[in-house]
Amino acid sequence: MNLYKNYKFLKEEIRKLKLKKNAIILAHFYQLPEIQEVADFIGDSLELARKAKETDADIIVVCGVYFMAETAKIINPTRKVLIPYYKAGCLMADMATKEEILEYKKNNPDTFVVTYVNSSADVKAVSDICCTSANAVKIVEKLVQNGIKKFLFVPDKNLGSYVKEKIPKDIEMELWNGYCYVHDQVSKEDVIFYRERFPKCTIAVHPECKKEVRDLADFVGSTSQIVKFVKQTTSDIIVVGTEEGIIHYLKKIAPNKVFYSLHRRFICDAMKLITLPRLYNCLKNEMYEIRLDEKLLEEARKPIEKMLKLS
Ligand code: SF4
Repeated sequence: MNLYKNYKFLKEEIRKLKLKKNAIILAHFYQLPEIQEVADFIGDSLELARKAKETDADIIVVCGVYFMAETAKIINPTRKVLIPYYKAGCLMADMATKEEILEYKKNNPDTFVVTYVNSSADVKAVSDICCTSANAVKIVEKLVQNGIKKFLFVPDKNLGSYVKEKIPKDIEMELWNGYCYVHDQVSKEDVIFYRERFPKCTIAVHPECKKEVRDLADFVGSTSQIVKFVKQTTSDIIVVGTEEGIIHYLKKIAPNKVFYSLHRRFICDAMKLITLPRLYNCLKNEMYEIRLDEKLLEEARKPIEKMLKLS
């Protein structure tokens, strides 16, 4: 069987298994095109979390990285949550540990810990609130309105610095020293290259990019905000400053526009570990299941619920 026929076969089998097992496939925008094509829903972390919360499917398959599947389990603990490959972990999420956060809190008891959802369940459980790149500014602004003046932003220093730019200058915000290697590798030279090559292009970047990149971009937003921006803009040439998997989705919603990736290798290797054969195997054998103990589920749910309520 050649690869095309094999993929066609797998897609059909995946569709049959989904129906038979009352399963839903949630896929992140950074997933491979063939995964996006069999998904029931494609979105960013916040949208996937919301979808996981409202679904009545018996099995939730999360095609994304490990923390996304953990989040789905935390907010919908009665369902079986599966990830097609257990090694699909976010490197940025590994840059903060529960022990480090607890130590920080011991030394800074009056600081409010805002944790990006790109973090482990353990870290979420010791955080005061979670946020995503789509709602980080809004969440912190609301907390400031409620009188909070000192924050620690975990783990992404780039998203944290973006949030810090948007809030009043008298608010203290310390940034954890984490970053996403995929977005952090982009430099202002990449932006300048595209500006010179396509003077009429529009450059849209993710806030996980460095400040020097954000400052030169035309638009800064999360993946879902970039999707909305592309729907609205009149620009025909768009340079995308986030993981290139999203370009497959953007081409579908805006087939007449031309898209370029801001970096020559804008690829999250962990996201690409989710393949069609692994997804098929996952549905067929119901593996790998996310299992978290009751106490952790309960503690990690609180900051996520707070986020969902505030956003
Ligand atoms: S793109 Fe970056 S933040 Fe997102 S999953 Fe990959 S390593 Fe983690």
